[in-house]
Amino acid sequence: FCVNADDEPSYWCECEACRALDTVANDFGGQGDGVLDLTDRCMTLVNHVADAVREEYPDRWIGTFAYGSTREVPRKVRPADNVMVELCWWDRCFKHDLTDRACPVNAKGLRRLRDWQQWTRNLTLYGYLQYPHGSVPQAFFGSEGDFLRTVHRRGIRHITDEWDTDFTASALFLSLRARLLWDVDTDVEAFVADFCEKMYGPAAAPMLEYYGLMELAVIGSPQDHVSFRGLERFTPEVLASGDRLLRRAFRVAEDDLNRARVMDQQFALDMVRLHQLQAKPDKSAEEQVALVELNDRILSAAARYDIAIGLEARNALYVGYTPPLAALSGDRLLQLSEEWRFRTDPEGVGEQQGWQQPGRVDAAWKSISIHQAWEDQGYPGYDGYGWYALEAKLPAGSGGRMWLLFEAVDERATVWLDGEEVGRTEGEPGVVWDKPAAVEITGRYNPEQSTHLVVRVHDSAYAGGLWKPVWVVESP
Ligand SMILES: [Zn+2]
Ligand SMILES: [Zn+2]
Repeated sequence: FCVNADDEPSYWCECEACRALDTVANDFGGQGDGVLDLTDRCMTLVNHVADAVREEYPDRWIGTFAYGSTREVPRKVRPADNVMVELCWWDRCFKHDLTDRACPVNAKGLRRLRDWQQWTRNLTLYGYLQYPHGSVPQAFFGSEGDFLRTVHRRGIRHITDEWDTDFTASALFLSLRARLLWDVDTDVEAFVADFCEKMYGPAAAPMLEYYGLMELAVIGSPQDHVSFRGLERFTPEVLASGDRLLRRAFRVAEDDLNRARVMDQQFALDMVRLHQLQAKPDKSAEEQVALVELNDRILSAAARYDIAIGLEARNALYVGYTPPLAALSGDRLLQLSEEWRFRTDPEGVGEQQGWQQPGRVDAAWKSISIHQAWEDQGYPGYDGYGWYALEAKLPAGSGGRMWLLFEAVDERATVWLDGEEVGRTEGEPGVVWDKPAAVEITGRYNPEQSTHLVVRVHDSAYAGGLWKPVWVVESP
């Protein structure tokens, strides 16, 4: 049974009696990770519970996390002997060995482990692997071997992990880890070589070189320390060398199975590229097109080689969504005004009442920016229909196809020009909310005069609405 504080930011009583239990002065003005040090106070409660439970259930344990505001070592209150402490260790550096004294990140973690062990023999670890980007290669082979050997030598016999690391990208790392948990003295290099022999057959040599390259990328990362976040270690040079080795492996692979396994790694490298491109702020039109093309390439390779797409990759990829390629690669003739008129439609009666028609915008329609969600502009927590209206003179173009390009719609839009429905945007809400969408408007308006644009957006959860620029685009 567990007795824990909430996840951060956690909220704690500030009354005199509770503060009297604290052994360090805390600034309750701030909240969040590392702000408060309340281990003694929390352990006082945990011990009370443990003592009461022991009377009736002497063979049961009370678990508690050393996490957030309770991660630091106690100063006064020793955990009762039926309390099991799970020490959370998210701030590891994978670039350096745990025993590498030159790494202050790991030295601090190791010191915390040793200090906790002065206070209790019942200590387990709660670890973290890469979870923001579970679909990229994780080649923390040597440092993981050193980590597990070291904590095992220090008496740790139990580890819980939190990760979305997927088997497509990191089958080797996860297998190695399973083996190390079985036997911490496993020869890491021999295991990696053996894995390559068995997984890749005739392609073992280039794949061994590839994994070596991936591990070198960690060790040689431009970052001082490598945490479970961040993709800086995948420099353009590392990615290009990775591609080369994978091409060579693909050529010499004997059968479809070996080739498909090589392609798993190509998928993982392409996911790195996708994440890096997605993270770029203010993407140019060329970058947006490159992103769509990369996305298409990844998905078609996944279909061809039967690659298992993990949850994290699935959320990052355009699955259940078709990018508006023609509009994205067209000429952006006009950026529409940032300020539109807006009204909510909680009953969903707008269309029936003709809100899409010209001349219906009245005082009920308030001014709104289409560059941020409606939640941030006076409609907190509103889900359902929102109606946007704008008068604008739309450009004539030069004979190509004309589009209304939304850089993002959260989640689905229906568009009317002068009262006529011209199109809708589709897709899975959780996927489309931050992605471009377009509606074709060729021949649907008169460029000689002003057009009444109405966009109805439906949002089912979280933030909603038009929240990025809208363009009139012409494509061939
Ligand atoms: Zn209190
Ligand atoms: Zn380090």
